[in-house]
Amino acid sequence: VLLSVVTSPDNAAVEAAPIPLTARCSVGPLTAPPNRPRYTVDATFDPVTGRVSGHISILFTPDQSVDEVVLRLWPNGGVRDAAAPTMRVSNMTVKRNGATSSPVSFRTENPTTVTVPVVADSDNSVTVDADFVTIARGERNDRISLTRDKQRAFVAARFGSFLPVLAWEPGVGWNRTPPTNSGAEASMTATADWDVRMSFAGDGSEGLSILASGELVEDGHWTSTAQRDWAMSIGRWNASDGSLGESTVSLGPGRRTVKVTVAVASLIRESASSYRAPVVKAIRSLSNRYGDYPWPTYTLVISPGLKGGIEYPSFVMQGPGSTGRTTTHEVAHQWFYGLVGNDQGRDPWIDEGLTTWAEARTENTLEAFVVKPIPADAKGKAGKPMAFWDVHRSSYYRGVYVQTLQALAALGDADKVDCALQSLVTAAAFRVATRTDVMRALEAEFPSARKTLKPFGLAP
Ligand SMILES: [Zn+2]
Repeated sequence: VLLSVVTSPDNAAVEAAPIPLTARCSVGPLTAPPNRPRYTVDATFDPVTGRVSGHISILFTPDQSVDEVVLRLWPNGGVRDAAAPTMRVSNMTVKRNGATSSPVSFRTENPTTVTVPVVADSDNSVTVDADFVTIARGERNDRISLTRDKQRAFVAARFGSFLPVLAWEPGVGWNRTPPTNSGAEASMTATADWDVRMSFAGDGSEGLSILASGELVEDGHWTSTAQRDWAMSIGRWNASDGSLGESTVSLGPGRRTVKVTVAVASLIRESASSYRAPVVKAIRSLSNRYGDYPWPTYTLVISPGLKGGIEYPSFVMQGPGSTGRTTTHEVAHQWFYGLVGNDQGRDPWIDEGLTTWAEARTENTLEAFVVKPIPADAKGKAGKPMAFWDVHRSSYYRGVYVQTLQALAALGDADKVDCALQSLVTAAAFRVATRTDVMRALEAEFPSARKTLKPFGLAP
């Protein structure tokens, strides 16, 4: 995830012909883990105070024994300025296997990490219930932001990574990767199901509506299946420009249909259709390249105070003036982050590097990326975690996004790289991929991949 994808005018979008999925090079059937967590949320948003408050219930079956449950409160991380959001949880209860809930005292390990004692193994389901409050305090170039006009009246808000989430990395354990202050995302979340009710509280909600992840099943109620997070945007949308108009995109005979919704917040003088066309083109092109887009909806909201874009599964937030490559980049994240997940704090090159490759293949801009110079302090360090980029911030984009693309290009035939990425999608869809998974997929196409990637810092 990156906030400011710099749009370079030399990267003019050219439609690349999709590569046919052949028997040798194809995406297999994708299945989500059957006992994935389930989040049930019932909350309200108050546009006057910027508070989202409510209740969350998390049903979780560990795949190995645990003696605690670790929740991450990401709004408390990142740069702490006066407009930084805050989050707190309270009234926590825990139950095992549907027994009666008992109140439990939780431990705040650090501002983004809360632990709850509970003993369970893979035969047990654990339900953690809590009240939570997340407050947006002002406009920020980030996931949580609230814009007011000169009269202090509410204009628009973004809420991403704003619900308490499980830190469980299936097959590994509790993930405690620290937050980053580089305007990027450090979260690792496993694929889950979501049932979210969100309504307005207090005064001042006239004319406001909420757009969010997944499917709107009734007014104020969304569900999503096999998605690793849930996000929403609130505002008034330009009606005259086709905002909220839905396009139903068929990926082909016998393939998925995707409902695409684009909305531009009022006060932004851009048309929804200028975003809708590149979204539809990218969904089609990337589906042909890496397997069908995995969910029934794709919603894009253009809201103020944001440079570039922020991706969530089936839901993307972008800032004004981001119709170009940013739109394609965020659609590509649906495969690399959304479908094939990773720990974004530990391995930012997996989501950002592979997405930049997919973006370049879709926009036909590979050559322009290959010749970009890599700053000296980033050279050979594409595989470093966010903790490294926090102190080499100006080199992060070139060092991770561009350098990973250059490493993949160095392997040779770009079509074969896409084949390798297709096998990564098949192997790691709906899971949290590690560098071992990526290396295995690349080595199947390029036996000497390890040697080629080593100088870029992507192989041990
Ligand atoms: Zn990105």
